[in-house]
Amino acid sequence: MRHVAIVGSGPAGYYTAETLQKADDIAVDVIDRLPVPYGLIRTGVAPDHQSIKAVSRRYEGTALTDNVRFVGHVSVGSDVMIDELIYLYDAVVLATGAPNDRPLDIPGADLPGVIGSAAFVGWYNGHPDFADLYPPLEAPGVAVIGNGNVALDVARILAKTPQEFAGSDIVAHAREALSHSAVRHIHILGRRGPHQIAMTPKELGELGHLDRASPRVDPADLPSEGDDALLEPGMRKSVTHLRQFAANPVAKPVTIDFDFFAMPVAIEGDGKVQRVIVERTTLDADLRSHGTGETYAVDAGLVISCIGYQTPPIPGVPYEHGRGRFASDEGRILPGLYAVGWARRGPSGTIGTNKPDGARIGEMVLEDIGRGAGKAGRAGLDALLASRDIAPVTFRDWRRIEEAEVAAALDGHPREKFTSVEAMLAAIGR
Ligand SMILES: Cc1cc2nc3c(=O)[nH]c(=O)nc-3n(C[C@H](O)[C@H](O)[C@H](O)COP(=O)(O)OP(=O)(O)OC[C@H]3O[C@@H](n4cnc5c(N)ncnc54)[C@H](O)[C@@H]3O)c2cc1C
Repeated sequence: MRHVAIVGSGPAGYYTAETLQKADDIAVDVIDRLPVPYGLIRTGVAPDHQSIKAVSRRYEGTALTDNVRFVGHVSVGSDVMIDELIYLYDAVVLATGAPNDRPLDIPGADLPGVIGSAAFVGWYNGHPDFADLYPPLEAPGVAVIGNGNVALDVARILAKTPQEFAGSDIVAHAREALSHSAVRHIHILGRRGPHQIAMTPKELGELGHLDRASPRVDPADLPSEGDDALLEPGMRKSVTHLRQFAANPVAKPVTIDFDFFAMPVAIEGDGKVQRVIVERTTLDADLRSHGTGETYAVDAGLVISCIGYQTPPIPGVPYEHGRGRFASDEGRILPGLYAVGWARRGPSGTIGTNKPDGARIGEMVLEDIGRGAGKAGRAGLDALLASRDIAPVTFRDWRRIEEAEVAAALDGHPREKFTSVEAMLAAIGR
């Protein structure tokens, strides 16, 4: 029997498991620090995008095969160490994602009210690490820094009415706080221009259909229309949305302004954030942005930076500090140790991008471990965890947690998520 441990139960972890479980004589343990599986499908993907979250049914199919096991509520790096896993398994695959916000490196970034998107998104999606975030929603202005889909998710969630969350699984504490929100003016700040966004058409188009909020684009920021022909089709559609927003400004109580060529250079406030100082930029021939020296202020009681993520290092695992991910040669880190997904590539691409990645790393592992080295695998991990009084959460336990969440759902919502590890464990009688 060959034994493989996958650390992380997000898309990359389960796509890797999907490939591995098709092989003969293999036992795969998918270990996660949370008692609940699926990584960012549960805690990142927007709660009002349920059709995207439905991909977890595919992972469930893998999780329920005989040779794959979920080992939840076990943190690698504290409950069990990486060298212990390497000792116990023929291969260990790190699929730990990139859960930490890249720091916003400007003066004032440490003021209360400046938060990263991992925290804000985790808060409205019920990640136990961020249940106590309480983002300040008392001021009318919010600055969202970044020009990718996460910035759009954040702006949309801030802009929606309570009724627009019907059918979503946004958690109760966020629903409640947002229903009393004073936010009226949301600025999405991007250092470059409309042709440099990393926003997809569907997500951009949604902003044009919100009940009380309307997107605004300054026509002067748009390149000449003929230049759109040079864009790939998806980008062209996105830019077409921006052109429509510029051409048809609609008066609604909440505004979402796209501030292009806008580089935040400082955050100011008396004991908490009150404004962002923004420098206007121009682009050089290589499309790099440069400050022009001209600045303006955006009033904001909340600043959310959506500028990317990093993988936290694990002691003993080679790490690329500049890129914020594990150092690997196409996935191979050290003999017996691999990386996949965001932990390997960094935080880019869609859920689907992890599928070929997982398949490739799965094949690579199978090729490398051959027939297996007769390691202890599952039985060894169980003995180690028992010696430390750690009782992992099984996939069957998770399904009981899920059933309890579904049973607690209010009308029109698919589930009411538990937002603390204690509550998750209580649902399975621990
Ligand atoms: C806000 C946001 C919204 C997104 N929306 C979309 C979308 O709508 N559509 C789309 O296609 N893509 C979306 N994405 C991208 C998508 O979520 C990622 O491509 C994907 O989740 C990356 O998968 P992963 O398995 O590498 O990491 P993750 O999904 O982050 O999974 C990592 C797992 O590892 C576990 N873990 C971490 N450290 C440890 C440890 N030390 N021990 C044990 N377990 C550990 C975590 O608990 C987690 O379960 C979004 C991303 C974000 C951030």
